[in-house]
Amino acid sequence: MSEFDLIQRYFTRPASSAILGVGDDAALLRVGEGMELAVSTDMLVSGTHFFPEADPFLLGYKTLAVNLSDMAAMGATPRWATLALALPDVNETWLQKFSTGFFALADEYRVELIGGDTTRGPLNLCVTIMGEVPRDQALRRNGAQAGDDIWVSGELGEAALGLAYLQSEIELAEEPRISCLAALHQPRPRVALGLALRGIAHSAIDISDGLLADLGHILECSHVAAEVRYDRLPISPIFECCVENRIELTQRCVLSGGDDYELCFTVPVARRAEVETLAIRLHLPLTRIGKIVSGSGCKVRAGNGSVITIEKGGYEHFA
Ligand code: ADP
Ligand code: MG
Repeated sequence: MSEFDLIQRYFTRPASSAILGVGDDAALLRVGEGMELAVSTDMLVSGTHFFPEADPFLLGYKTLAVNLSDMAAMGATPRWATLALALPDVNETWLQKFSTGFFALADEYRVELIGGDTTRGPLNLCVTIMGEVPRDQALRRNGAQAGDDIWVSGELGEAALGLAYLQSEIELAEEPRISCLAALHQPRPRVALGLALRGIAHSAIDISDGLLADLGHILECSHVAAEVRYDRLPISPIFECCVENRIELTQRCVLSGGDDYELCFTVPVARRAEVETLAIRLHLPLTRIGKIVSGSGCKVRAGNGSVITIEKGGYEHFA
C-alpha cells in the first residue's frame, strides 16, 4: 500500500468546516470574527509515552485526547487537527484500529482532521490541534493572583496507579484495574469545563505531568506561591480500598503522577459559588484544594498542618 493510499483509506474524510482539508499542500481554515486561534502540539513516542504493543484503538484515542486537554486548559473550542505519523511498517489492522480510536474522539468533539504527514520510522504519533477562543479570553497560566482559590476537576491518581500496575509495581483486583487503566488510556478531556471557566478563572492548566509540577507552572508564570491541603485533594477512593497503607505510593500518584488530564485552575474567592454551580451543571466534581498566596513555591500540608515533603516533582524528559 502506498503512502497516498494509506492516507486516503484511513485518514481522509470530506472537509466539513475547513475550507480545504486533506489532499493539498496545506489546509485552509477561516477563524470566526473576533476569535483567536489556539494552537498546540503533543507527541506520543513509543517507549516513552506508551508500550510498543499498546492497543492501537486506545493510542488513537489518547493521541487526540491529550491534545483536546490542552484546548480545554486554554478555554478554547477545539476545531481542527493535523496528525503526523511515523510508522515502522504498514500494518492495516493496526491502522484501522488507530484511526477508529482517533475518529471516535474527533467525532465526539467535532474536531476535523485537516492534514498531517506520514513517514516510515520508529512509531511516533504527533497531533497539532487548533481551536477558537474569543479575543483576549483564553485561560492562561500567568493570571493567578494571591487570594485565589485553587481548584481541581475530577479525581487524581488513578492513571498513575494504572501505570504502576502495568509496570508490575502493584497488583490490582479486576474492578479497580479496569478503572485505573481506563484513566490511563482514555482520559476524558475537560473541554466543557475549560469553556465554562472563561471569564471566571484567573488561570488554568491541564494536569499532564502531575499536580505539583503543573500547578508549579501556574505559580512560576504568575509569580505567586500556593498552599495546598493534602487532605482536601480529590483522591480516587481506589487508593483507600485497594492499596491500603501505601502512603508513599498514594502521595506519589496523586501529587506527582502524570496523565490525569484534569484541569487545575484558580478563581477569585468571590466566585466560589459559580464554580460550585458549574460542578453540578457539568456533573463533574470540582474541588477546592488550596489557596494562592504571595511568594514562590508550593507548600503541601496535611490535615494537622504539618508540611508534606515530596521527593519527585513530576515527569521531566531531560532531568
Ligand atoms: P507533502 O508532500 O506536501 O508533504 P503529503 O504527501 O505528505 O504532502 O500529504 C498529502 C496530503 O495528505 C496532505 O494534505 C497532508 O496534509 C495529508 N496527510 C498526510 N499524512 C496524513 C495523516 N496521517 N493524516 C491526515 N492527513 C495526512
Ligand atoms: Mg508530507
